[in-house]
Amino acid sequence: MDTDSTLHALCAALGSDMATDILLSGPDIDAYCRDWHGDVQTGAIAVLRPRDREQVAACLRAAARLGLGVVPQGGRTGLALGAVPDAPAKQLVLSLERMNRIRRIDAYDFTAEVEAGAVLQTIKDQLAEAGLFFPLALGAQGSCQLGGNLSTNAGGVNVLRYGMTRDLVLGLEVVLPDGQMLDLLSRLRKDNRGIDLKQLFIGAEGTLGVITAATLKLCPLPEQNVTALLALDRLEDAITLFRHARRQCCDLLSAFEFMPPLAFTLAREAMPDLPTAMDETAPAYVLMELSGSGLVDVARLMERFVELAFVEGLVRDGVVAQSQAQAKTLWRVRDGMNDGQAKRGRHLRTDLSVPLSAMADFVAEAEAAVTAALPGVVCVSYGHVGDGNVHLNVLPAVGRDAEEQIAQAKKVIHDVLYRFGGSISAEHGIGRLKRDDFEKELPQPKRAILESIKRAIDPGLVMNPNCQICVTDQPAP
Ligand SMILES: Cc1cc2nc3c(=O)[nH]c(=O)nc-3n(C[C@H](O)[C@H](O)[C@H](O)COP(=O)(O)OP(=O)(O)OC[C@H]3O[C@@H](n4cnc5c(N)ncnc54)[C@H](O)[C@@H]3O)c2cc1C
Repeated sequence: MDTDSTLHALCAALGSDMATDILLSGPDIDAYCRDWHGDVQTGAIAVLRPRDREQVAACLRAAARLGLGVVPQGGRTGLALGAVPDAPAKQLVLSLERMNRIRRIDAYDFTAEVEAGAVLQTIKDQLAEAGLFFPLALGAQGSCQLGGNLSTNAGGVNVLRYGMTRDLVLGLEVVLPDGQMLDLLSRLRKDNRGIDLKQLFIGAEGTLGVITAATLKLCPLPEQNVTALLALDRLEDAITLFRHARRQCCDLLSAFEFMPPLAFTLAREAMPDLPTAMDETAPAYVLMELSGSGLVDVARLMERFVELAFVEGLVRDGVVAQSQAQAKTLWRVRDGMNDGQAKRGRHLRTDLSVPLSAMADFVAEAEAAVTAALPGVVCVSYGHVGDGNVHLNVLPAVGRDAEEQIAQAKKVIHDVLYRFGGSISAEHGIGRLKRDDFEKELPQPKRAILESIKRAIDPGLVMNPNCQICVTDQPAP
């Protein structure tokens, strides 16, 4: 069938009223078929924007009947091409953007039931008004949606204290590929009745069903947040400083990020108005946050910690933010460096993890190997120190084929990474971008289990085809 006939059949399968209400096609769908960096622009038969779970179920049934794949989509900030279709004539995008209600806030249970299309920042803001806190925090929070966060099991800057997204969820509501509703919207904190099925869908990148809502596990809103930007002589000192912070600041340590001095240049390329907070030429920087409530004096704790770090020679310069506005400015460096790299054009973005104890050695070896193999490229290593998670990105040298340099740099980095027992995806997922690398390293028993789960839940292979692993309609050998 050509695209027009498929579109016609899709409208008939949905019914004309629903199709008029939820279906977009033609040039209106271009933005839904582009990744966040704008590296990839594809297409789809149509974009479906259901308003409720019943419409989601109708979309999945229609897709199954017509043999079309469905690519669920949240805020399109994912960095692994999981939400971008790759077979325009055979796939539909299913955007959750209209399902964005906070259905219920239970202040006494510290829970909230929220629809998958709600934007993370909006959820956080509304909960804050009720004195509650959803700890997931990442640079894309103004655009990413809860369903995308759940489906990628997003990490972010608060993982070291609160865990990944899967640790912040008590229940899920999922529409299965055949249109059945799986209601796992529990508010229970403890429930050991067999296998915890919701965990299958968290981190599945839309390959098993469409998440339509979740029950979130909340905390009291921290009343005190104190941020410091510290200049260091080397990355090893950041690791030592982190170990000290874990012991000396107890569980009040909520973020600990490291950045190279290039972070300031990159951030300023995206945000020219960024003020200078301190000398920007130290070899390494740490952005650290303590937070707490009630009787604890968080500001005093930060002050004492930074004083001690100076005495021990771990820090050579530092600024402790004196207001939330100043703290925001310090965080703009960390957030702005992503935009700055995007402005430099095509580059290698990685999302690696190694054991914390190996992090400094890994970064030194991997950067040395890349610059030896590809003179002229620029390595930008930064990330979540406390989680052993480093984004070792590579900006290609000007005047040579960027794609070739990216491919070569990736191979060099992966060779070093595997020697360190690391992972190619700490928090961004596999998507389509890392599928081949993931499959290459997948041991047989694990692959067989993943494929069996996929076939059991999605026998028609409707959900997000070619994402994470390739499963074809030929039965597994
Ligand atoms: C500037 C920037 C900073 C970032 N920082 C971090 C960070 O610190 N930590 C981190 O982990 N990530 C980070 N990311 C990556 C990204 O923001 C997260 O992965 C986010 O969780 C993706 O959410 P989204 O709504 O944009 O999802 P999308 O990009 O729309 O989708 C991501 C995946 O989820 C699937 N999906 C989306 N919604 C649903 C649903 N309702 N049901 C089933 N499947 C669904 C899609 O099919 C796709 O596979 C960052 C991205 C940017 C651009």
